[in-house]
Amino acid sequence: MKEAFRRVHGADAEGIWAAPGRVNLIGEHTDYNDGFALPIAIPQHTLVAARRRQDGRLRLHSAQGEGPVIDLRVDGLTPGAVTTWGAYPAGVVWALREAGHPVGGADLHVDSTVPTGAGLSSSAALECAVAFAYNDLYDLRLPAAALALLAQRAENGFAGVPCGAMDQLASACCTEAAALHLDLRAGSHEQVPFDPRAQGMSLLVVDTRVKHDLGDGAYAALRTGCERAARLLGLAALRDLGPVDLPRAAELLPPHLVPLVRHVVTENARVARAVAHLRAGQVAALGPILRDGHTSLRDDFRISCAESDLVVDTALEHGAHGARMTGGGFGGSVIVLAEEDRVEPISVAVTTAFRAAGYQAPHMLPVSAASGARRVW
Ligand code: ADP
Ligand code: MG
Repeated sequence: MKEAFRRVHGADAEGIWAAPGRVNLIGEHTDYNDGFALPIAIPQHTLVAARRRQDGRLRLHSAQGEGPVIDLRVDGLTPGAVTTWGAYPAGVVWALREAGHPVGGADLHVDSTVPTGAGLSSSAALECAVAFAYNDLYDLRLPAAALALLAQRAENGFAGVPCGAMDQLASACCTEAAALHLDLRAGSHEQVPFDPRAQGMSLLVVDTRVKHDLGDGAYAALRTGCERAARLLGLAALRDLGPVDLPRAAELLPPHLVPLVRHVVTENARVARAVAHLRAGQVAALGPILRDGHTSLRDDFRISCAESDLVVDTALEHGAHGARMTGGGFGGSVIVLAEEDRVEPISVAVTTAFRAAGYQAPHMLPVSAASGARRVW
């Protein structure tokens, strides 16, 4: 990183920061409903080497980004002005300045092991690495959660992606061998022990390597549907509905909104159950929760796809405790929880099933709960 920085920017970096990607164990599409989620940070992470500039310029380079150095002026940053990958890091600088932090320019060089567009939140990893770099370079002393919310603001307000706060909070606040129990309404979070390896188990991420176009407009439509349902029920958010309220809600709502509400309500309940099991040291008990979570996303939220369903079904047939699609939907990654000695046969079976179906080979990433964003040099 130091050498690459010097090559690109012609000077020495002042430091290097890292921020991980994430997978969510359970609690999907609950963040924008003021609900709960339970992500872990994964070992794959994004590095940012950085150095301040005195001339108000922001110069961005990435080993994964197309094109040469992106050269911007921090006082000219406006939403929509940057349409390339540079919108994510530039958005962080914009969000900091919008929030009243008088930060200036910088040279940045980015390199990452988080696959992009696989539902593992490479965008949040990039934003958080930049936010942590700026926090130190400009001595802002903001806590990790505040940096995460600024990173989310960057993605919403500058890059134009209407995501919830889960990804950035996970990347910023996770710790090793723990999942992060997020309460998106309270804005609070708590570490819950999560170390499958200590109990002879493994968490495998299967990147299906498909991203169906359907996903682009669908996220906004689902979000709008949930918000509309809450309004019709006279609630601030679907978070305020419990499983016992579902029959009554079903009577009041137009039929097409009922399955959306059912997913969110049962998903929040699944997060609570998962947390209770993990606190009791029962990792394998997550299995049925993951299975139910997948069924709910597939049948009620209707955002799974043939490839993700094939991974889940094949993994379960080959002895996984549980498996489910993660992320926004219509492709991306699936998580599989299994005994360590089942991981190899499951990987082989999934790869074979994909070949037989004519799909491109999936990528297998064994993961553990890794630490959140931090300075590494
Ligand atoms: P995900 O966050 O699930 O990986 P997104 O579509 O939200 O998928 O974000 C992916 C985008 O983030 C990429 O298309 C790119 O613009 C940007 N990005 C992420 N990581 C990097 C990186 N290391 N270098 C350059 N751009 C990146
Ligand atoms: Mg993203």
